[in-house]
Amino acid sequence: MIENERARLSAILDQLPEGILLVEASDGTISYANASAATILGIPIEELVGVSFHQHAQSHSLNDAQDRQTLPWNFVVINALLGRTASSQETVVVKPDGIRLIMLSSSAPLRNEKGFITGAVIVFQDITVQKMIERQKNAFLSLVSHELRTPLTAIMGFAELLQVKDAQEEGLDPLRQRALDQILIQSEQLARLIDEMLDLTRLENAQLSLNCALHDLHATLREVIETLEITARGQSIRLEVKGLAATETVMGYFDKQRIMQIMNNLINNAIKYSPNGSEIEVGYQISAENPDAALIWVRDHGIGIPANECHLIFERFHRASNLDVSMSGLGLGLYLVKELVTRHEGRVWVESEEGEGSTFYVVLPLKKERHVERRTYNHKKPSKL
Ligand code: ADP
Repeated sequence: MIENERARLSAILDQLPEGILLVEASDGTISYANASAATILGIPIEELVGVSFHQHAQSHSLNDAQDRQTLPWNFVVINALLGRTASSQETVVVKPDGIRLIMLSSSAPLRNEKGFITGAVIVFQDITVQKMIERQKNAFLSLVSHELRTPLTAIMGFAELLQVKDAQEEGLDPLRQRALDQILIQSEQLARLIDEMLDLTRLENAQLSLNCALHDLHATLREVIETLEITARGQSIRLEVKGLAATETVMGYFDKQRIMQIMNNLINNAIKYSPNGSEIEVGYQISAENPDAALIWVRDHGIGIPANECHLIFERFHRASNLDVSMSGLGLGLYLVKELVTRHEGRVWVESEEGEGSTFYVVLPLKKERHVERRTYNHKKPSKL
């Protein structure tokens, strides 16, 4: 009966596409390998089972000047034998024939009925092809974004040039002015989408680094607001400062361009997802409990976000289900916001009620001494064209 069960279990494990290895705690030998483990690693089961895990890993690495490792999980096994579980870790495996594979592996301790650790289990899956496709996709995205950005910069430059020339002339043609404004507004929208794609590829290729220096948070927020008032669709953007006293500046150590990008994204969304003529509040506060960080918020009275989707909108490409199809976007902005805030060791979240509006919060560590003053600015957008 027990034999039957064992055979059945073994047949099931052999059918799995993932490789499985069991390592014994007593002597470090591999006591079980399923068929997929042998196929993926390119080592017959007879040569895998019964061999010391450590020796196996070493024999290959010693044979080869490039430090090849067919079983690169020594550290993982030790961790599992110490009772730690690890999941979805990427590891490079070099097969005996020299082919390099990328594995997604997980490991856990095995315990007996008394709870003592008797071994470790490693489960792994070959993700080399997926990784290659992902790399090609990133390279493609990066190339396309660069190629699109160059002509777009030229279009925007010439449109601005014509605007400047028009401003110097009398008797302007209103249609021409409107057309030029539209070219610029639409080009800026396109530029934002391209920049989002570029940032995504930079993030995925670990090429996005922060350039932190001492800046004034208040001035930074004002700068963003002043630029965005031009593109707002009749909304007014108000800057609210709470709980601060004394002087003019709120100095903090951050990457100014990236903080402007974060605020741009949040305020642009507030503009995009709220009705014409409504008010958008941008605010910040430095509380007595946490004087080393600023709490920044962007509040709108727009379409809001369905409660069950609030945690999803920070994921790549996620767009909420209550959107009108005409609302443009890639669903990348908030993903980038979250990544950038996290890199500043901050936190971002949203509170929202569908049909009522949303408030996005960012906690931004400032870490340096600062001088602040209580102020409220009310920037009313100039009337539209
Ligand atoms: P995009 O705006 O390009 O779709 P984002 O990543 O900036 O992408 O936002 C993800 C989704 O979150 C949006 O598609 C929208 O559904 C929702 N969202 C973001 N900001 C707001 C907001 N201020 N009001 C309502 N929904 C929002």
